[in-house]
Amino acid sequence: MAIQSVGIIGAGQMGNGIAHVFALAGFDVLITDISRESLDKAVALISRNLDRQVSREKISQADKDAAMQRISTTMQLSDLGQCDLVIEAATERETVKQAIFEDLVPHLKPETILTSNTSSISITRLASRTDRPGKFMGFHFMNPVPIMQLVELIRGIATDEDTYQQLLAVVEKIGKTAASAEDFPAFIVNRILMPMINEAVYTLYEGVGSVKSIDESMKLGANHPMGPLELADFIGLDTCLAIMNVLHEGLADTKYRPCPLLTKYVEAGWLGRKTGRGFYDYAGEVPVPTR
Ligand code: NAD
Repeated sequence: MAIQSVGIIGAGQMGNGIAHVFALAGFDVLITDISRESLDKAVALISRNLDRQVSREKISQADKDAAMQRISTTMQLSDLGQCDLVIEAATERETVKQAIFEDLVPHLKPETILTSNTSSISITRLASRTDRPGKFMGFHFMNPVPIMQLVELIRGIATDEDTYQQLLAVVEKIGKTAASAEDFPAFIVNRILMPMINEAVYTLYEGVGSVKSIDESMKLGANHPMGPLELADFIGLDTCLAIMNVLHEGLADTKYRPCPLLTKYVEAGWLGRKTGRGFYDYAGEVPVPTR
């Protein structure tokens, strides 16, 4: 089956980036969300982000116009039933995702491939709640989607080889690079990245370094483009904590225990850039380290 139409569930940070990339690559994109406002915001944001690519001469105005014409939105989840590929990118809560798949499955064509952009939930468990575990995969994009080159493809225990091969071809068509990961907690990128971020928080917690010295050390000493604490603020400290908890519980190894300071920041509602404060304060023009 040639995949031409793509349904995206969730028009948040990830959903709009995924829609952007697929529309630009020539796929017909249908986005759904429970919030009309999120859908409208996503379309406006995609348009602005495409404008930026036009002004940097990465794409032409005609490319942008064609991409925007390929995007439509709906509040009816069942409208996605006719899509060849569905990418679920709704809130990272297992009950939310399960309810979405249960509602969607009765409307799906038999050949539709179902995927989830989850950062941490078991693909095998999500797949088992659908009528098509063989046609279910983890399709993990990185944030921001239009910029980041990697996509992780995660096979659940029941995923068919044909499903995997079809998604590999899709990744190639959108001009990205796939890394295959088995279905273990946090897959590859977050399995390695999150313990590093957590260790940076321990380094701060134990007073080994300040926010500034930790971030500068990793930027100038390890050639990382962003310091680990700056990156944690960008990802969201609640997300970082959730992924550490998945690693800790899923692998039952104390080396993954979340740093108490990370937990404390999340309890305080200091979640990073999205709340205006995390390891940095974002109230002014320039982020200011808080420790
Ligand atoms: P977000 O909060 O920005 O967006 C989630 C969207 O889902 C919201 O617009 C919300 O209205 C919508 N939604 C909630 N319930 C819904 C439902 N029942 N039906 C339709 N839409 C619904 O979240 P996000 O950062 O875009 O994350 C989405 C998914 O992508 C999560 O699974 C997350 O783990 C994963 N992910 C996030 C990142 C990241 O850096 N933020 C990176 C990779 C993967």
